[in-house]
Amino acid sequence: MVSSQLVPRGIRDEKVLAAMRKVPRHLFMPAPVRYTAYDDMAMSIGEGQTISQPYMVAVMTELLELTGTEKVLEIGTGSGYQAAILSELAAEVYTVERIALLAERAQAKLNELGYGSVHVVVGDGTIGFESEAPYDRIIVTAAAPEIPAPLVRQVKEGGIVVAPVGERYSQILLKGRKVNGRLVEEYSTPCAFVPLIGEHGWKE
Ligand code: SAH
Repeated sequence: MVSSQLVPRGIRDEKVLAAMRKVPRHLFMPAPVRYTAYDDMAMSIGEGQTISQPYMVAVMTELLELTGTEKVLEIGTGSGYQAAILSELAAEVYTVERIALLAERAQAKLNELGYGSVHVVVGDGTIGFESEAPYDRIIVTAAAPEIPAPLVRQVKEGGIVVAPVGERYSQILLKGRKVNGRLVEEYSTPCAFVPLIGEHGWKE
């Protein structure tokens, strides 16, 4: 997966590549589809949700420029796989999931695999997670019409927010750095995530 999908498409950060080699992606997937774990695609994890394509996980993680000391907020826990990758590269990870069943499964899996620094929270991540704010980095792994305003407030000055932003079924990855209280934005790869549903996202 790393040498055939990630390196040829330009993932260069050695620490990101090492994390992608290390975390057992198949264990975050339902048993019947585990044989597809290292294929070049997103896959269903139940409840109408997906585990992101490996390349997308790598690109988003690289855009976060993690050095190991950061406190990170993820919106959209899903399987917990992206959170595990983040915890390999950051100090502390909070991840919010709106579907309680997925949150419970992800937390159990993360604990079982020794990712104790990941805290899974059930709720609407479009309002962020105020009680642990501010964060050095925020990553949104569901498609947003725009970056939810509470997330801009909850990221530190100089911090980074990465999110797929655009239409409900097609988006572009956006990276914003907070400068003087506002996000300075740049856009990278086109992508297609499941919708971010909530107060500052799409309606049901
Ligand atoms: N990062 C995940 C993939 C996420 S799929 C992984 O590594 O497997 C997107 C997830 O976002 C879904 O589980 C969906 O239920 C969740 N989601 C959608 N809207 C949300 C919201 N407002 N708050 C929190 N989670 C949300």
